[in-house]
Amino acid sequence: MPTNMMEWGFVLVFFLLPGTLGAWVAYTKGRNPLLWFLLNGLFAPTVMITFFQRPLRTVEGHYRQCPKCGEFSKWRETSCRFCGTGLS
Ligand SMILES: [Zn+2]
Repeated sequence: MPTNMMEWGFVLVFFLLPGTLGAWVAYTKGRNPLLWFLLNGLFAPTVMITFFQRPLRTVEGHYRQCPKCGEFSKWRETSCRFCGTGLS
């Protein structure tokens, strides 16, 4: 366990920061936030994987899946950016 402020700062920057960021991004993509918190926290470069991976499912307020082609678009978009199908 960390014993002084500097070590706590180290833990914060190199574990909690990427961990929390990864957990949030994973959550918006319908993935397991705890799993990605641990993975991104322990190995920060995996945050890039979290950012670029596809959402697993429609997540209200973040992503919706096109009923026609199955691709994901941002929640605020009104038509699929891959096939143009209207989303509602
Ligand atoms: Zn589509």
